[in-house]
Amino acid sequence: MKPDARALLKDEWTRRFSEWGQPAYRLDQLLSWLYSRRATSWDQMSNLPKDLRQRLADEFTLDAPELTRKQGSRDTTQKFLWRLSDGAYIESVLIPASPALYGEPSDRHTLCVSTQVGCAYGCKFCASGLEGWKRNLRTEEILNQVLATERWHERALREEGKPESSPDARLVNNIVVMGMGEPLANYEALIRALTLLNAPWGGGIGARKITISTSGLAPQIRRLADEPLQFRLAISLHGATDAVRERIMPINRKYPLQELAAACEFYQEKKGRMITLEYILIAGVNDQPDHAPPLADLARRLHAKVNLIPYNHVEGLPWERPSDAVQEAFLAAVEKRKVVATLRREKGHDIDAACGQLRLKVEREGASEARKAGKA
Ligand code: SAH
Ligand code: SF4
Repeated sequence: MKPDARALLKDEWTRRFSEWGQPAYRLDQLLSWLYSRRATSWDQMSNLPKDLRQRLADEFTLDAPELTRKQGSRDTTQKFLWRLSDGAYIESVLIPASPALYGEPSDRHTLCVSTQVGCAYGCKFCASGLEGWKRNLRTEEILNQVLATERWHERALREEGKPESSPDARLVNNIVVMGMGEPLANYEALIRALTLLNAPWGGGIGARKITISTSGLAPQIRRLADEPLQFRLAISLHGATDAVRERIMPINRKYPLQELAAACEFYQEKKGRMITLEYILIAGVNDQPDHAPPLADLARRLHAKVNLIPYNHVEGLPWERPSDAVQEAFLAAVEKRKVVATLRREKGHDIDAACGQLRLKVEREGASEARKAGKA
């Protein structure tokens, strides 16, 4: 299989171009087509000589996902369902900065990206794990979610008769790797994609604007600590005792809390950055008054902040979010212990924004249509 043009780092291109006897400025032109102008065909690259375009086409693919469904309106949270070249579906969620949160309207947008088709970790509350793991995303499939979202935005502006932004203007300037899949289980492709998205000649998104969320793969957290880039790290904790965590997250059997905490400590010390502990509040599971002290203790030990997220119901699963009063009481109990905590009203709650939910819906519709067709 040919590699994709958007999976190469600049030094790899430089070597290739010098083997081909191509001058350096040609490479800059190519990179501009790939990232600033988000080209989807070689023919578009009008300032590259024909023979170079042909050579590129012979040796590389230029993959782009196809938008199959979108939910939400342009000034709120929007969810994109992409169809990949092999027919698999993945999701990305675009979240505009909330003026209420930042004090003024802004064009800051966060994109939540997926790293795998499905997920192997089988957390009991999560839609992504429900149908199991299908495959890892390739580097270009991870970063193309950003480019394709920006392409869609440009087209939407055009259709509304609004002026297009300049080719260098980026819609997405913040990335959270919290979509479908476990990012640290697809380590090489993830780091490569994020390196490309961070590069000034690539996506141009600051490493501090990139957050990786993991369910707790302790050895890979240590490995991430040794990476040169300063990504932000979020841990999907959801339980601060082994008893609670084990009930909802099978990974806790492989890497129990002590091991996870030690890896987080290592990361925090090495990077000097504050980790975030994500904690979804699930009624009757982890939201009781006695669940708060161990969470606060762990957060203090790790110099971490706590992000409380009311659970987003998944069709077919028995879990529910607690009442607002219970959520507020839990927040107060954590804050009382001198820990920085926020309680988030899940943005995009109304559009199945929690990871994996849209894909699951579409695949289930597909399956029931297939069943109907089978019966007919
Ligand atoms: N696999 C990684 C990243 C993807 S999940 C991880 O688990 O961290 C992104 C976040 O969404 C995780 O914190 C996950 O626990 C949370 N999540 C999954 N299902 C959810 C739901 N139904 N409601 C709210 N959050 C959910
Ligand atoms: Fe996978 Fe994360 Fe969902 Fe767990 S919460 S099943 S690790 S995507």
